[in-house]
Amino acid sequence: MSKVVDHLAELTGFRDRDVLDTTLAGALRDLLEPQRVAIHRCVGEESSRRWLTRARLAADEAAATADPLWVEFDSLPRLAEFPARVAAIDTHEPVNVPGTPHVTIFPLFTDRDVAGVVELESVAPLDVDQLRLVVSILRIYRNFQSLLDYSERDTLTGLLNRKTFDEAFYKLSSQPAEDNTAPAGERRVRASTQAHFIGVLDIDHFKSVNDRYGHLIGDEVLLLLSRLMRSCFRYHDRLYRFGGEEFVVMMRCASDADAGRAFERLRASVASYQFPQVGNITVSVGYTVLKPGDTPSSAFERADKAVYWAKTHGRNQVCSHADLIARGELADDSKVGDVELF
Ligand code: GH3
Ligand code: MG
Ligand code: MG
Repeated sequence: MSKVVDHLAELTGFRDRDVLDTTLAGALRDLLEPQRVAIHRCVGEESSRRWLTRARLAADEAAATADPLWVEFDSLPRLAEFPARVAAIDTHEPVNVPGTPHVTIFPLFTDRDVAGVVELESVAPLDVDQLRLVVSILRIYRNFQSLLDYSERDTLTGLLNRKTFDEAFYKLSSQPAEDNTAPAGERRVRASTQAHFIGVLDIDHFKSVNDRYGHLIGDEVLLLLSRLMRSCFRYHDRLYRFGGEEFVVMMRCASDADAGRAFERLRASVASYQFPQVGNITVSVGYTVLKPGDTPSSAFERADKAVYWAKTHGRNQVCSHADLIARGELADDSKVGDVELF
């Protein structure tokens, strides 16, 4: 019993979701002693979801491994390749796959986040007490994730809130270009991306939406915009509502031009979307690559300058800070005289 309590204390002691899944895998491995435990999540768009392994741990392994977050989406297995996992999610019930080893699949849900499964491989089927133990631990895990969501997400849009930005910024910018956490020999194509970008997005003339249609309709526009953002960016891009009608995207891309194309896709999809009652709205976007030595505020400030430029030069456009500097439209603050600071 005290072993269970110890594991629950450990599980609820982390606020970092990446660590949470590996901690859950470790707890289930220690408590049930299966041959293997894994946590797989469904990622991607509703119509083309795939499995991302968030933790896998065998009986004789010291630490859990996971798919790198930046894995190429198309190299991940499609949902239909694992029908028993899909059945567990659809039925909200554990699914048994008899055989050697015996596989038990538990559905994993949080209130907002994508669904997933916990998969346990054991020599014999789990007994009633073991099944109940796993279900109880997963309930606690779900409640804890909901609490995390409550403190880390914006209530209107469900996007991450501003207060989690700094921590994620430092974590992201310290990540190596190549992630080697997947086991050797596994078929996974690494994303060949090396740079991080942040983009600031501000709705054009949003005050007039509120003035003409009222705050409730304005809120609905914010919510619909957040959905367009989710559909335009990839599962590992971080989307924030910074407050009001200002949004931030933190993403990894091969080049400034690639980042520009992603933001342009969003700009175009917003501009062509018919918002109920309101009709068309547009957004202005400014973005910048993260440079060595950047702080969250120095990077944000560059992207914000690019948004300001977009606002004062016609709105409804995406502006790269680097490009504005190259064109002489903005002064390069990273250089003082001839001395380069970064
Ligand atoms: P610009 O194109 O220069 O960005 O003009 P704007 O009107 O979008 O910008 P401004 O900063 O003048 O106004 C932002 C408005 O956003 C003010 C406020 O009415 C509205 N707003 C801020 N937060 C919320 C919110 O949570 N809900 C709603 N409905 N409106 C909000
Ligand atoms: Mg604004
Ligand atoms: Mg605005």
